[in-house]
Amino acid sequence: MWQYFMPTRVYFGERCVEQGKDALKSLGKRALVLTGKRSSKENGSLDDLMKVLAQIGVEMELFDDVEENPTFNLVRTIVSEFAQESFDFVVGLGGGSPMDTAKAVAVLLKNPSLKVEDLYDPSKYSEALPIVAIPTTAGTGSEVTQYSVLTDDAGFKRGFSHPVLTFPKLAFLDARYTLKLSESLTRSTGLDALCHSVEGFLSKRATPISDLYAKKSIELIVENLPIVLKQPENLRARENMLLASCLAGMVISQTSTTVAHALGYPLTTFKNIRHGEATAAFLDVVVEQASMEVPEKVEFVNSILGGVSNFLKLVGLNVRVEINEEELEVWTKRAKNVPHLQWTRGNFTEELIKYLYERVKIH
Ligand code: NAP
Ligand code: ZN
Repeated sequence: MWQYFMPTRVYFGERCVEQGKDALKSLGKRALVLTGKRSSKENGSLDDLMKVLAQIGVEMELFDDVEENPTFNLVRTIVSEFAQESFDFVVGLGGGSPMDTAKAVAVLLKNPSLKVEDLYDPSKYSEALPIVAIPTTAGTGSEVTQYSVLTDDAGFKRGFSHPVLTFPKLAFLDARYTLKLSESLTRSTGLDALCHSVEGFLSKRATPISDLYAKKSIELIVENLPIVLKQPENLRARENMLLASCLAGMVISQTSTTVAHALGYPLTTFKNIRHGEATAAFLDVVVEQASMEVPEKVEFVNSILGGVSNFLKLVGLNVRVEINEEELEVWTKRAKNVPHLQWTRGNFTEELIKYLYERVKIH
């Protein structure tokens, strides 16, 4: 038995924010827009959005200080700043960080008695403000997922989701916004999308529909990631990467991510390795471990990538970090207990996990 549910209306193409303005208008009269410090002012996305909101008579408040890897405290700050105002919808404009923050804020503004910790128990809320997502990186797919990944007070990344409310209502994907992504952000976000599609494809939760999306997404990334790394302003290749990351988001909306994501989280929060690279550092093993259970799928992945490690090398992945003994112990113990293991194929023993962290460690 399988099911498929992905309720986001997706607009894709040049100037799609403007073209989808009627849908935006239908959400109401007052919007809270969350974005990062700089990039949305530089890539034209914030201007486009502000113009369209003005045209359709929507008033907006702007919070433009969303940091990378949003924390519980950031969410608390935003909610307390805007708690006294009333909004009809929340827009997350930028990479996964502003989009994920928008999901948390949309729930908490509608449920003033809840704390950020309560987000992790979706039975505690049955309403949220509608969410609009405008991605400016081609990586997380957060515009079409129900997940939001926040860093808790102890420094660990933890995802929450609601089966319906945290899916954006509308997503606007205009690849022009991604043309100025640096080489390193292009690499890390593109690898994040690749991990989503490969992990989802090999997950025990994969479905016929998620597999269709996953295969297409992998093909698009293999063809277009090397191009955008060399020709950052190639709009056609950027569009293909944005489509690939959206498809990969639709994949994980059905399957969740698997253990590569869980293993990567501490490298991001404690060692500042960007999310996509931190995750991709473990992708080869996720594929290898699946080979006994789904050999034909592993064969598909390996043949299209020309081998996982080869492809990762080709696009310049190289993750090396200092890890001390205590970190090694704590991270290993934590990874051994993550829920992701229930739907990851293979046998990720404590020894294997420890070895994988040793592998990225600078000796
Ligand atoms: P991000 O953390 O949102 O942003 C990273 C950096 O990219 C920021 O410095 C940002 O600058 C810059 N940036 C964004 N768009 C840009 C553009 N068009 N041109 C130039 N620079 C740009 O990056 P991300 O990789 O998209 O998101 C990562 C986060 O998403 C992590 O917290 C990860 O855990 C989460 N995630 C969520 C899901 C999900 O399903 N919800 C899936 C995977 C990952 P500014 O700050 O100036 O904007
Ligand atoms: Zn990811």
